[in-house]
Amino acid sequence: MLRLGDVARRSSAAEWAVQAVLAGWPGLARTQVEAWPLGQLDNALVALRRTHFGDEWACEPQCTACGETFDLEFDPGTMGFGIPSDWEPGALPTRAIEFSGDAAIIRPLIVHDLIAIERCAQEGDAAAYLAAALEVAEENLSAALELSAELDPLSNIWLATQCPECSAEQALLFDPARFLAEEVARHADRLLGEVADIAQAYHWSEADILAMPAARRRFYLTRIAS
Ligand SMILES: [Zn+2]
Repeated sequence: MLRLGDVARRSSAAEWAVQAVLAGWPGLARTQVEAWPLGQLDNALVALRRTHFGDEWACEPQCTACGETFDLEFDPGTMGFGIPSDWEPGALPTRAIEFSGDAAIIRPLIVHDLIAIERCAQEGDAAAYLAAALEVAEENLSAALELSAELDPLSNIWLATQCPECSAEQALLFDPARFLAEEVARHADRLLGEVADIAQAYHWSEADILAMPAARRRFYLTRIAS
């Protein structure tokens, strides 16, 4: 958890997601995960989170109309995410399309694409990468990406929200990697805070305190607080 918290702080959401999945399923190879469509990565992250934090997801989005933040709770189990049963997604679904005479065969984006995009420093580079990856001209890229997302429905889930303050409606893209990376970083911060409090009172090492069951840490924290 702490190691993943460190990675969450310093790396991109996509790289973090790959690390989290590889930590959760040590039998998987990185090349396997990089070949997954994005929806499969999202599904694995939802399953991973279920084992550590349960099914209820909560976040505090900001209303784009009035600027207020509000509480949003949801359960990805109701949105088509399930237990990943097959790590080999098989051949990617494709669809043929024609852009003013240019034929193209569109496929979903895969994890490798996402990591490559995140490494592109400028937006222009990312667009050029994606156009090359999908084998379309850059002017057709946004249409191609739309089709690509349709081929991978789990990567393209939007949460319908309504601001309790001003009633404005807003659709938010469900991005499990970013959500989970932030959640794990918050948990790691809290854990480090506990370690610091216990170390200050008892002068034990970080490794010893981390090796304790959570209940023992809570016991000492209660003692320190009283
Ligand atoms: Zn509002």
